[in-house]
Amino acid sequence: MTQARKRTLFYLVDGAHSEVLPELIAQGRLPNIKRIIDEGTYRKATTCFPSTTGPAYLPFLTGHFPGTMGITGIRWFDKKEFKRTRWNKNAMRSYCGLEAAWFNTDMPANKPTLFDLLGESYNLYNMITRNIPPEYDLGKKGKGLLYTRAHFWKRHHPVDEQGHRRIMDMLQAGKDFDFLFAVFPSVDWDSHYHHIRDPRTIEAYQIADNSLGEVRALLEKKGWWQDTLFILTSDHGLTPTDTHLDLGEWMTQHDLKSVYYPTIWKSNPKSAVMVSGNSFGSIHLLNHTGDHVLREREILGIMGSARLNGLLAEKAVDLVIYRGNTSQSFVVRNAEGKATLEVSGQTFAYHPESADPLKLGRELCVNGHRAALEATFDSEYPDSLYQVHQLFQSRRAGDLVVSARTGYDLRDFWEYPEHLGSHGSLHRSHMHVPLIYNQKNWHTHPARTADLFNSILKWKGISTAVSEGEALN
Ligand SMILES: [Zn+2]
Repeated sequence: MTQARKRTLFYLVDGAHSEVLPELIAQGRLPNIKRIIDEGTYRKATTCFPSTTGPAYLPFLTGHFPGTMGITGIRWFDKKEFKRTRWNKNAMRSYCGLEAAWFNTDMPANKPTLFDLLGESYNLYNMITRNIPPEYDLGKKGKGLLYTRAHFWKRHHPVDEQGHRRIMDMLQAGKDFDFLFAVFPSVDWDSHYHHIRDPRTIEAYQIADNSLGEVRALLEKKGWWQDTLFILTSDHGLTPTDTHLDLGEWMTQHDLKSVYYPTIWKSNPKSAVMVSGNSFGSIHLLNHTGDHVLREREILGIMGSARLNGLLAEKAVDLVIYRGNTSQSFVVRNAEGKATLEVSGQTFAYHPESADPLKLGRELCVNGHRAALEATFDSEYPDSLYQVHQLFQSRRAGDLVVSARTGYDLRDFWEYPEHLGSHGSLHRSHMHVPLIYNQKNWHTHPARTADLFNSILKWKGISTAVSEGEALN
């Protein structure tokens, strides 16, 4: 007897919220997702920092975090490359426009994606398309025009509806798959431009739910469903935004003239600011000799303590994080004071000094990054210890990282249309995501979305590639 083909069907409902989704299920508005939960599992997982579209796809597709992959935001800046020569493709990036195509080649070539590892793999709308042949990229044909129309008219749902039809067409044409990764982008878009609970946003959840119902029925008819691992999750939460602080403008107004997208060609900049999501921002100081990333002592001199305190006093700023004076030490500050994080080997030690900005309530010393996740999972900043550590492994993370307070974001002037919802921060309303699958009895310890990489490979019987995740099954 030949062994049944082990398929994985992955619905990435971009921006699906760990509090809104269960509300809709309780109201009976997502019957097909409810059915999966009744037969399988509903839980929460943590995404990565920054909790933003693009970088936050890396954990489940590659098993690695943004710092490890060198993709530290939807926009990033590389001081070393910029100081070498400004006319340099690798000095800065914004995946929000034409440079999106470079996401694939920006990823380290030696880090495979699930598309590389899982045999016949189909993609719908996700921007990580490395090594995916065009005929396996279901959303590719006509995507540019469809997306432009959706944004121009602020009518997003035709994108998700067409995506669903492409899945159905592929299956109805008799094609089989090992891995089908489908992104439903409208929950994120509607949450940004309307509200996380706007009727249009709720309808976007329902489009994904209807799609699941129809695709499942077809797979059942083919006799494939019982061998299909179904996963539904998200890349980040979102919170409503009513106040904008433009971090690039703030730096310029405080005498550290800043380059930021789209005004990247200013002469003699003293800093660069890259904002993602838009609750995450990285600051790269350029007003110093050398091309290295700065540690605390230099930051206090070059940024200046008074200016840094001024930034911390802004209502929009929740946390400012930077590297400490010793290797693998980090400083976390809020308006009240600071704490330090020291990582030595497998040990993560959090030490509140003048304040407890990560709101852990105590000194903490844990062995291993899973223990660091466990100790922080239900806190205000889930997985903060490991996420700070992973992000700063890349120089593109910058000298200082700003995590915005909920209700605020870090971009104003250039944004059209105005964002009324934000994500990207270390706060739990952005870091927690719903995780749903049609299996029972997997491990129940706190999960990261990176663990899905390992879980899917294990489901397929593939011995795990090197990863920062851990199989849940
Ligand atoms: Zn997203």
